Amino acid sequence: MNLFKRESNLLNIANTSKTWDLIIVGGGATGLGAAVDAASRGYSTLLLEQADFAKGTSSRATKLVHGGVRYLAQGYIGLVREALRERGLLLKNAPHLVKKESFIIPNYNWWGGLFYIIGLTVYDILAGKLSFGRAKHLSKKETLNRLPGLKEKGLHGGVVYYDGQFDDSRLAVNLAQTAMEQGATLLNYFKVTGLLKNSDGHLSGVTASNIETGENYQLKAVVIVNATGVFVDDILKMDAPDKKPLVRPSQGVHLVLDRSFLPSEDALMIPKTEDGRVLFAVPWHGKLLVGTTDTPIEYPSLEPVALDAEVEFILRTAGKYMVKAPTRQDVLSVFAGLRPLAAPQNGSSKTKEISRSHKLIVSESGLLTMTGGKWTTYRKMGEDIVDKAIETGGLKSMPCKTAELPIHGSRPNPDRNNHLFVYGADIEKILALCDENPDWKNRVHAKDSYTKGEVIWSVRNEMARTVEDILARRTRILFLNARLAIEMAPEVARLMAAELKKDAAWEKEQVEAFYQTAKNYVLSSVLK
Ligand SMILES: Cc1cc2nc3c(=O)[nH]c(=O)nc-3n(C[C@H](O)[C@H](O)[C@H](O)COP(=O)(O)OP(=O)(O)OC[C@H]3O[C@@H](n4cnc5c(N)ncnc54)[C@H](O)[C@@H]3O)c2cc1C
Repeated sequence: MNLFKRESNLLNIANTSKTWDLIIVGGGATGLGAAVDAASRGYSTLLLEQADFAKGTSSRATKLVHGGVRYLAQGYIGLVREALRERGLLLKNAPHLVKKESFIIPNYNWWGGLFYIIGLTVYDILAGKLSFGRAKHLSKKETLNRLPGLKEKGLHGGVVYYDGQFDDSRLAVNLAQTAMEQGATLLNYFKVTGLLKNSDGHLSGVTASNIETGENYQLKAVVIVNATGVFVDDILKMDAPDKKPLVRPSQGVHLVLDRSFLPSEDALMIPKTEDGRVLFAVPWHGKLLVGTTDTPIEYPSLEPVALDAEVEFILRTAGKYMVKAPTRQDVLSVFAGLRPLAAPQNGSSKTKEISRSHKLIVSESGLLTMTGGKWTTYRKMGEDIVDKAIETGGLKSMPCKTAELPIHGSRPNPDRNNHLFVYGADIEKILALCDENPDWKNRVHAKDSYTKGEVIWSVRNEMARTVEDILARRTRILFLNARLAIEMAPEVARLMAAELKKDAAWEKEQVEAFYQTAKNYVLSSVLK
């Protein structure tokens, strides 16, 4: 039986009289981290995700594995130290997806270099044994050599420092696989619709619906974990309808450009833009990822849309530093994500004042809710959730194992010139799969290396269920070049339909649904 098939996981919930140790609601970084932690400690674990794994914020990050230089400047030493430890562990446990990245801060005033060198040296010292390398001053000439494309006028020099970079949704998929290997049951397209309580008001389970079939379930558990990101308040309201909101969503937008705007292996970091935000321009999968913004948003959405003002802000700011100023026509893809920031209870709407650290809340009913945090610290957040579940649920205490647990696909020194590198230790299995059908060795589209066999692989082994799952999160084409992704959709739908035994109507529906989503990732009016 294939461990990673949705059908196999469905069989695991057929016996609805079973009481799980934990039911985790939400399949983003937080929920997946908790599932890996709980299952690897030996607890029976069920994770339910209403859409695809990482469909929410967890596929929309800046892709940094970092301690947060900005938080250091704000004096959050403990938070930075913890994140730097997690950065080191993640590089060790998922080296196929995480790499060291050098960031250059250009200095346009004489004192800037000294200020940043001191701060970034402290940043590195805080990483201790898990250091990624010491920050160093760069002359003006060195800065321009390393970052061709950077404006020379007024430049004094630069500072280079090191942090981590990764592929967020690929890591999510690999975490889902790790959790399943450790014995957890995971279901995507499975929405929690209500909470079940005992007569004493304590939670006893959830009601949930299989989005693909409409079938409803009642599932029992000792502990329920609310790991729904910006949607935590929906679950909290199921528990206590008059509960005040915990989360204040804040939108962050990224633009993806051609590498020619900054043809370098180094990333550019602007610590303070015109409105006090940090701006990154980071090489990612052969393109340049530029962002981000910080816009308070009233209501969370699974598919947030970039605002014109955010796009203009990023283009304007990038243009201040790049010789070739990018325009709307140059944007290959634009995507927005919502930070699940913990809201202050005094009603302030300034996102800068809202805590970036994670917060674990225990409701009277026993519901555990995790808010805030970041991708980098997902493992620690999972550990904290399970430690608390042991305490509140009276589960037999078992030690956390995830600090030393390799993540599915883990393989050191990936060959990043081979586009298959993201699959890590699965590469040979994908190549063997392609031997089954010679056509699977062919590319889906002449303009991209992605092969037909990878579509089949992700359907069989990574629980991909829709065209969007493939083009947005198993491969990152929607995020890298949205128009190309739209062109690829019909062929992906055809391959998936054959593999999943779906009819022509499904294929058509899938292409149309993908088009509706993908058009929000395209800026100019090229779309008909
Ligand atoms: C713009 C931006 C840039 C960022 N950059 C970085 C970065 O570079 N590095 C970093 O470390 N962090 C970064 N972060 C933070 C990081 O991405 C988030 O902290 C993290 O992804 C949050 O994960 P999550 O699992 O809590 O939420 P989500 O990923 O949103 O997951 C919650 C899931 O719950 C599901 N769900 C909701 N309701 C239900 C229900 N009723 N039933 C079942 N499922 C449900 C949703 O579908 C969703 O998939 C960034 C965040 C943003 C917004």
